[in-house]
Amino acid sequence: MKRILDVKNLNVSFHTFAGEVKAVRGVNIHLDKGESLAVVGESGSGKSVTSKAIMRLLPEKTSEIKEGQILFEGKDLARLSNREMEKIRGSEISMIFQDPMTSLNPTMTIGKQIMEGLRKHQNLSKQEAKERAINLLKLVNIPNPELRVNEYPHQFSGGMRQRVVIAIALACNPKVLIADEPTTALDVTIQAQILDLMRDLQEKTGTAIILITHDLGVVANLSQRVAVMYGGTIVETGTTDEVFYNPKHPYTWGLLASMPKLDAKDKELLAIPGTPPNLLKPPVGCPFAARCPHAMQVCTDHMPDATELSSTHQAACWLLDERAPKVEPPEAAVVGGAR
Ligand code: SF4
Repeated sequence: MKRILDVKNLNVSFHTFAGEVKAVRGVNIHLDKGESLAVVGESGSGKSVTSKAIMRLLPEKTSEIKEGQILFEGKDLARLSNREMEKIRGSEISMIFQDPMTSLNPTMTIGKQIMEGLRKHQNLSKQEAKERAINLLKLVNIPNPELRVNEYPHQFSGGMRQRVVIAIALACNPKVLIADEPTTALDVTIQAQILDLMRDLQEKTGTAIILITHDLGVVANLSQRVAVMYGGTIVETGTTDEVFYNPKHPYTWGLLASMPKLDAKDKELLAIPGTPPNLLKPPVGCPFAARCPHAMQVCTDHMPDATELSSTHQAACWLLDERAPKVEPPEAAVVGGAR
């Protein structure tokens, strides 16, 4: 498959009154044409910062891409001027956020909001842009699109508004769509509908998707690959099957154990005790050591390198060293009993 995005050794810091917060530390992720990658982690893990760095949407005054490359079709987005990035953002790479209300302008009809990007990037006439807006509303399953194109955001329900936001993001046929917690603000039934819609749209349009989420449960049906982030680093990455059925990092075990499972009603759900590391003073060793029930001395002293478990599966944990004791995942982290 053709590589479309390659993030290499990304390091992002925020400059705060308290000092430098090293929010993203040495992140490597890639995305092939038409594929879907989920980036999963708790809040503060660096997942949203990574996605905003790709879009170059981080605050210029207080943040900095300190090191690394964000290669999109060979161009390093980290080094583009704001003007060059403007041409890519919204046309080649689009982003949708958690709360559709904050992404939409309450004073403009949704038709105008969809047409704005089309007129800016695709040089369409007003009539052509309106026709395309109606087709996009059809694509995201908004009933009566010819009428609703003239309505305002407050006339739509939360789920419908998120569909409109998706229509805006897809307006210019982007090659990559970054969805940052796209269903978190919605109720459970609507969440499922939006995820179904995204999967359907991916098949129809071939847009590659990066799904940013704290919820492993939303990953299974939408993403082919998963990257698990913790403390500003990627701790495990693999195909969705590898991460769900053969997880190797204790943090991934914790995430899986805290996820409700239909086939395991009587299994205990385990929360991960403790809090993420303070990235003003990131630990020198494994970022998960303070919360890990299997931590050894080496874990606090040295950062583990990523171990290759297959051509697609890697995890960074000292338990994968051949000298480490053999540790099995907790029962609650076993999905479907297959391993
Ligand atoms: Fe736990 Fe050590 Fe592995 Fe980190 S490296 S996850 S502390 S066992």
